[in-house]
Amino acid sequence: MRSLVIAGGGFAGVSALRTAYRLGLTHKMEVTLIDRDGVFEYLPSLPYLISSLRTPEEVTRPLERFASRLGAKLIKDEIVGIEPTSNEIRLRINGVLGYDYLVIGLGADVDYSNVRGYQYVYAAYRLRDYLSILKKLEEVEEEGGSIVVVGGGLVGVEIAGELKRWNSSIDVILIEEAETLLPYSGSLRIGDEIKSLLEKSGVKVVTGSRCVEVTRSGVVLESGDSLEASIVVWAAGVRGQRPELTEELPTYGRGWILVDKTLRVERYDNVFAPGDVNWLQINGDTPMKSVEEAMLQAETAVENVARSLEGRPLKPYSPLFLSSNPKILGTVGGQGFIVWGNSIRVSNLAVHIKNSLEKTVLSLLDGQSERLFSLKKAFLKSFFRIF
Ligand SMILES: Cc1cc2nc3c(=O)[nH]c(=O)nc-3n(C[C@H](O)[C@H](O)[C@H](O)COP(=O)(O)OP(=O)(O)OC[C@H]3O[C@@H](n4cnc5c(N)ncnc54)[C@H](O)[C@@H]3O)c2cc1C
Repeated sequence: MRSLVIAGGGFAGVSALRTAYRLGLTHKMEVTLIDRDGVFEYLPSLPYLISSLRTPEEVTRPLERFASRLGAKLIKDEIVGIEPTSNEIRLRINGVLGYDYLVIGLGADVDYSNVRGYQYVYAAYRLRDYLSILKKLEEVEEEGGSIVVVGGGLVGVEIAGELKRWNSSIDVILIEEAETLLPYSGSLRIGDEIKSLLEKSGVKVVTGSRCVEVTRSGVVLESGDSLEASIVVWAAGVRGQRPELTEELPTYGRGWILVDKTLRVERYDNVFAPGDVNWLQINGDTPMKSVEEAMLQAETAVENVARSLEGRPLKPYSPLFLSSNPKILGTVGGQGFIVWGNSIRVSNLAVHIKNSLEKTVLSLLDGQSERLFSLKKAFLKSFFRIF
């Protein structure tokens, strides 16, 4: 029996397994899902742990039952090497695993480049990071002091708002090196609107200032100024997978795995890489690194595994979210906003859509009926196509 290995149990991995099941591959192939923690984490809702709007149990699901229900085996282990020339991956505990087809959905990693003293920062990427932040916040609440958040993209903006919601009397300072918040929107007006939402909720916003060093007691800016902080939360961007994992794969920039428009890794016919982990260029544009993109790309990647098995031509992927026309749903301290190309609307519709997306994805993990999941997904997909 041929084997399919799905590396990573995040949005891309879960969607890949669901697609493999839907296409009947879990009956025809030995399908294995590998995830470091064996737990799915709904990353967009992690900032809400800070203000207790969510609990860790509400935003995570164990992958074991999900995998076995869909006819796959889960291996809870860390992938430490990918060797596409010999069709093998190396695992930290379980040794070497061979595959006929590999779908890499390992997501991104925190980028600490260009900062000294990163050992003092609190990352804000995975559940374990947020659990460390929550523990430190207990100390901050007792001993006082201010909080610096570095990075004014969506994650930094949401975290700063949630910190104020957690404790309105604590000083929260958000630092962004670009001249505006949400710099990838390319619009000063959008950045200004977000800034005013944050300032209304009591966050101090500093733009055009790069943090070059983090110390035990705060941050140092490029200007030479320093700011005291009891905790520095790092939300200043992500990079691709570490070089140890990708050294045999073609990569672009800081570790992004190069894929062609069918999501196949360049040079390797049996390896696909959907989601945050990849670098995909379509007509000079790139898809946004988002939940919907990761899930939709994974569907196409596994459809292409099925096509390749049958000797049929592969299907090109058509992105829903392009970086040139960003679509962002976010919140600042409970107030929703929608960014759509060059426009922004402050509206709680964003909160409703975010909640509905969360419920839809988690319902897949909870084993709700396939039909209900497909209906909810079709509704959200058509919403995002219009918006
Ligand atoms: C705090 C936060 C808020 C966000 N908010 C939004 C939002 O509002 N809207 C939106 O669209 N996007 C948002 N994003 C981005 C979105 O979460 C990502 O685009 C999405 O998670 C990408 O899915 P993925 O499957 O490619 O990667 P991930 O979801 O990161 O999944 C990767 C999986 O692989 C596992 N893994 C990684 N390395 C290894 C290894 N070596 N061995 C074994 N397993 C491994 C990880 O544990 C994880 O389970 C947010 C991200 C963060 C961090």
